Amino acid sequence: MKHYCVLGASAAGIHAVRAIRSLDQSAEITLISEDSAIYSRCILHHYLSGLKDEQDLSFVPGDFIPRHRVRWLKGARAVSLDCRARRVSLADGGGESYDALLIATGASTAFPPIPGLGAPGCAAGVYGLRVLEDARKIKAAALNAQNILILGGGLIGLDAASGLLGLGRRVTLIEGRNTLLPLQLDERAARPYQEAFAKLGGRQFYGVTVREIIRNSAGGLAGASLSNGESLPCDMIVCATGVKANTAFLAGSGIRLDEKGLACNERGETSCEAVYGAGDVSGKSPIWPQAVKEGIIAGTNMAGGSAAPGAFFASKSAISFWGVKTLSLGMHTPPDNSYTVVTEDRGDSYKKIIHKDGLIYGAVIQGDLSYAGILTQLIAEKIDVSRVKKPLFAIDYSDFFSLKQNFEFAYVRGGETAL
Ligand SMILES: Cc1cc2nc3c(=O)[nH]c(=O)nc-3n(C[C@H](O)[C@H](O)[C@H](O)COP(=O)(O)OP(=O)(O)OC[C@H]3O[C@@H](n4cnc5c(N)ncnc54)[C@H](O)[C@@H]3O)c2cc1C
Repeated sequence: MKHYCVLGASAAGIHAVRAIRSLDQSAEITLISEDSAIYSRCILHHYLSGLKDEQDLSFVPGDFIPRHRVRWLKGARAVSLDCRARRVSLADGGGESYDALLIATGASTAFPPIPGLGAPGCAAGVYGLRVLEDARKIKAAALNAQNILILGGGLIGLDAASGLLGLGRRVTLIEGRNTLLPLQLDERAARPYQEAFAKLGGRQFYGVTVREIIRNSAGGLAGASLSNGESLPCDMIVCATGVKANTAFLAGSGIRLDEKGLACNERGETSCEAVYGAGDVSGKSPIWPQAVKEGIIAGTNMAGGSAAPGAFFASKSAISFWGVKTLSLGMHTPPDNSYTVVTEDRGDSYKKIIHKDGLIYGAVIQGDLSYAGILTQLIAEKIDVSRVKKPLFAIDYSDFFSLKQNFEFAYVRGGETAL
């Protein structure tokens, strides 16, 4: 009987467990995680705002662990890996031997080196938002905070801002680039979120960075001075300017790391035999759907199956705040003018596709998401969009089908018939 060890009980680890169990009914599976609960980080803001309780944050059914016959060491931290002996050591002095190991330890908040911010994670009044415990601390501290600064306008910064605005706190967000969600949205698609944020009383600064955090004589937070010359009062800060892969416990193991995190190939294999990696720990594309996909791929390959990623986007985000829904795929702004950009803007709905040589490199759909289905078909069926004869956003499902001689419907591919 094989013994699989999975480090990490989040998007990648849990989906790997599911894949392993579906392929190997007799295996022993040990799940090891610092987390003591299985929950989605993506909805921590609903916990912050009070919309959800802790038990509402789970993304698996309550019987997931017994149903998959998993031995779960919760609240356990891996401190080292011996690839030769195939053994993981734990902080409590114990350890686990394995036949195959998945490293799905994700990432932690990276605190920026701003003067006055203090030592990462320990400075009074400064928080990251990554794990449930962070959210608990932020929620408790926010009750007494008058002026909260959020550093970073990405998904985590926006989560923190929306959660704290929902709690009725005074929030100011500072983003170094020119829009909210600069990795996912162009200026047009960011605008409805910025307007909704402002309507709720949130202050926002774009293209501005924090130069220094000012502390009072007791070491408490007093304010922040900005690159535009302004100073803001603050008594609480949430840092959401980036993450770092949780690879510290791999030091000395000999396993290959690269500049972003754990190095693994598209099958999830690492430089150590029988050791796989998946999710944010690689530092490549730190978003939930990618971690899920990589967990399934690595779990499948660990258990003797064969899986590799399909040709789809590594950066795929579904964004929903304040009633505005957006799907962002790949690039939202072309890097040069060799790409063709097609847009349709109807005020409450916005669509954009970026293509080149017939291939779609990016898309943004906001408001009416029904086009997402068509877009998925365009991408999955490798339709050459440069050959499409009707307006791209006027395509409907019937354009993808043609009747075969036996009266079955079949997809029409780009090379066969121009739409
Ligand atoms: C507040 C917030 C909002 C987000 N919003 C979105 C969003 O809207 N859309 C989106 O696509 N993505 C979002 N993300 C990102 C998404 O949550 C991550 O991409 C995803 O959680 C990565 O999953 P993972 O399994 O790789 O790692 P993680 O979720 O980081 O989980 C790592 C696991 O490893 C465990 N672990 C870590 N170190 C050790 C150790 N040494 N020993 C044992 N166990 C260990 C942890 O306890 C945890 O169980 C958000 C993230 C945060 C924090």
